[in-house]
Amino acid sequence: MHIISQYPTLDARLYHQQQPSPLMGAKAGHFNQALAEQLQWSAADQAQWVEICSGQQTFPEFTPLAMVYAGHQFGQWAGQLGDGRGVLIAQVIQTDGQTTDLHLKGAGKTPYSRMGDGRAVLRSVIREYLAGHALTALGVPSSNAVGFTSSTQAVQREQREPGAMMLRSSDCHIRLGHFEWINQYAPDLLKDFVDHCITWHYPACLTAEQPVLAFAQQVIQRTAIMIAKWQLCGFAHGVMNTDNLNITGSTLDFGPYGFMERFRPSWINNHSDHTGRYSYKQQPSIGHWNLWVWVNNLIPLAAADEKESFKKDLVACLAHFEPTFLEHYRLGLCEKIGLPDFHKDSFDCAMAFLNILQSEQLDYSQSFILLQQQHYQKLKDDCLNTRAFDEFLIQYQQIRSGQDTATLDAKMQQVNPVYILRNHMLQTAIELAEQDDFSEVDRLFQLLSQPYTRQADLERAADLAPLPSDQPEIMVSCSS
Ligand code: AMP
Ligand code: MG
Repeated sequence: MHIISQYPTLDARLYHQQQPSPLMGAKAGHFNQALAEQLQWSAADQAQWVEICSGQQTFPEFTPLAMVYAGHQFGQWAGQLGDGRGVLIAQVIQTDGQTTDLHLKGAGKTPYSRMGDGRAVLRSVIREYLAGHALTALGVPSSNAVGFTSSTQAVQREQREPGAMMLRSSDCHIRLGHFEWINQYAPDLLKDFVDHCITWHYPACLTAEQPVLAFAQQVIQRTAIMIAKWQLCGFAHGVMNTDNLNITGSTLDFGPYGFMERFRPSWINNHSDHTGRYSYKQQPSIGHWNLWVWVNNLIPLAAADEKESFKKDLVACLAHFEPTFLEHYRLGLCEKIGLPDFHKDSFDCAMAFLNILQSEQLDYSQSFILLQQQHYQKLKDDCLNTRAFDEFLIQYQQIRSGQDTATLDAKMQQVNPVYILRNHMLQTAIELAEQDDFSEVDRLFQLLSQPYTRQADLERAADLAPLPSDQPEIMVSCSS
């Protein structure tokens, strides 16, 4: 593994170097060997993955550090935050030049822990471990994890729970909230910080006429694309605070997230989200709001006499968010439903299908699978308003007639997951893991490695089962 030290070259006010505090009584949870190999972990490191994923062993080439950042939480300025329970333990450069951060989560207190204990519970570690893996396999930009360990050390939340530690991988841990911290507490660092962000993460922008604007445009574009992909696979992040979004548009910090079962756009998965700020349907506009906060933090980079024109340029960059999101969402939805994106009625027809799913409370992912398998009667049997379904089907078949349906159907199969990470699947895996049985974590890990392929040997009936109509969706607590 080729370890580099990028972040420690920044001003020391931006981080605190410290070793992780090891997890007592650590034991193996799960190891993502394919990812370790992709990151070129040596055989010796792979053999010691439990020690590495429990903070007992670090890499001599990198001095671990906790980053400081700030953020807006639920739309309110929250002041200084930072890695309160995690440390960056390596930055890895792969043969293709791609860099990956390895961040140990649950690694003990740091100067940024505030009232927290610096620990993570097994329940939340398994949720993050499987979600990062699931999104990655679905093709949604996301953090992932090399492995996690469990322990005999209990952690106090609403009740005592087993503690755990996870080694997260991400292409970037620089959050929108980093810029907020700098402007609030160390504004002299802004220019150098932005220069480094561009050099490390968007080197192509260095040769642009205005590198900072090119950088802003890229961050905005990647965030819009990430959120379009979330919407398409029915993922609700749950806590889209500015400290939980990074500058590379890859999903970070899984808390009370969920994969949509019944199609209900106003669905809220986060138990603490009383107003629905972070509901599924709000995600695009919250993404835009977060980026608006972020571009405001770039304004100090302009000289006094150029501020007004720089602001206008930033506003113009931000104006690309909505069309970028809509275009990716529209194209993706046409693929999901098997209609040609160039046909003027395809998007409306797809919307009619979503309206049916919403009013009939049908399962989002399974309904697309039924459509792909042309089980139209089965879909209709689940509808009370069969007229609406018939009208949809007539238009759907009209648009498809005369088109290259073989290609459309092949694409449908590639983009509609058979398996999504349903809350009840997670729940079963967590309950067993709390009894030291990680077999269900492993089964889900394997199943979700190939979400688009039916795996009869691994699958259980409940993996495909829509939520019974009399059963409310589970809401997930923020405590982690
Ligand atoms: P999150 O909601 O997990 O994104 O966390 C928000 C902030 O609270 C981050 O700065 C975390 O590092 C911090 N935090 C969350 N849980 C803990 C904990 N148990 N101990 C210390 N800090 C924590
Ligand atoms: Mg966070």
